[in-house]
Amino acid sequence: MHIIFAILWFIALLGVIIGVNYPEKVLWGSKTKTEGKVLKTYGMALIIFFLLFGISLEYLEGINEQGDYVLQGNLHNKEDSEIGEDYRDYEEVKDKKISEVKEPEQVKHHDDELNLSNEVLKIHFIDVGQGDATLIMTPAGKTILVDAGDRNQGETVVSYIKAQGIETIDLLIASHPHADHIGGMASVVQVFEIGEVYMPEVTANTKTFETLLLAIKEKNLKIKKAKAGVEFNIDSSIRALLIAPHSEHYSSLNDYSAVLRVDHGENSFLITGDVEAQSENEMLKSKYPLQVDVLRVSHHGSNSSTIPAFLEAVAPTYGVISVGAENRYGHPHKELMERLGAFGMTVYRTDEAGTIVATSDGREISFDTVPSIQGAGRQRNSELGGNIDIKEWLLDGILNKIFD
Ligand SMILES: [Zn+2]
Repeated sequence: MHIIFAILWFIALLGVIIGVNYPEKVLWGSKTKTEGKVLKTYGMALIIFFLLFGISLEYLEGINEQGDYVLQGNLHNKEDSEIGEDYRDYEEVKDKKISEVKEPEQVKHHDDELNLSNEVLKIHFIDVGQGDATLIMTPAGKTILVDAGDRNQGETVVSYIKAQGIETIDLLIASHPHADHIGGMASVVQVFEIGEVYMPEVTANTKTFETLLLAIKEKNLKIKKAKAGVEFNIDSSIRALLIAPHSEHYSSLNDYSAVLRVDHGENSFLITGDVEAQSENEMLKSKYPLQVDVLRVSHHGSNSSTIPAFLEAVAPTYGVISVGAENRYGHPHKELMERLGAFGMTVYRTDEAGTIVATSDGREISFDTVPSIQGAGRQRNSELGGNIDIKEWLLDGILNKIFD
């Protein structure tokens, strides 16, 4: 409706402009064809249609506010139209707004297209006792699984993933062929639809490894080589990249670990398998950025991993340690915990908290549980005007007191 008033207003404007010079051309029915008569007639029309145009716009705005579906771009377009430009664009946006009000189903769709999605990235550090299993659920609903715990944890991992409503693992990564990482993976391969499988190029002469290879073979899946530089095009709203291993041969099987970096908006995560000093030193020398917000602390908190230089480069705000209670390795090692604590990190442990879920909206990261160590926050963050959330930090402190 407003566009009709806009056209009438424009006609009235033309009437004034033409009429001032040639009154007889615009005042057909009138006896007195003077400039004054022109201004009176078309001037009045000009004002009336201007007001009607404004009212009809406000009416539309009202519909929008009720529907609460105002998109950021509209404000900009509205300004354009108010200064009399680009009516067509404005019309298109307005039409979209109306259709959105009528069809809420489509709103989400538009939001997706405009990247205003409310979808989040969730990383589940599944409690598998002494071992690792990290489930990543992307904003677009894709699934990545890095490791699946020991053999006796296969059912735990399978039922946890099923409980998330997942039927397909789009990307399965076996960080390295140690039983506490791949033991439960054969069950996962048997139960779920599997997209791609990545493993570092190293074998282990164990029954566990053989069982996994057989399960993969039975599903006619191909194993692709996990190495630094492999990037996964799994979901355009995240970046998933392997930043290790770099070498073909290592003295420790742990150093073959595939290290996955995931970036989601301003947030970043590093899933490190069981890497030790040798691979960490290689990553330090590599071209790949190491700084992240959340570090899945390597090798269950072993002191031989997360060397000081690596920790300094990664400079995480949060650490997650996947470790079994009273394990025979003494993980996490006391020295390592002190190192993380001295670094000001907030540290979560699966042996204390059970499964830990980190949620990223692209700007902030939240955890569903209380930490073992509440970090004071890194100076780095304030220096960079960065992302430590003081409110969250204070709240965590209060929660700690309540739960103590
Ligand atoms: Zn391990």
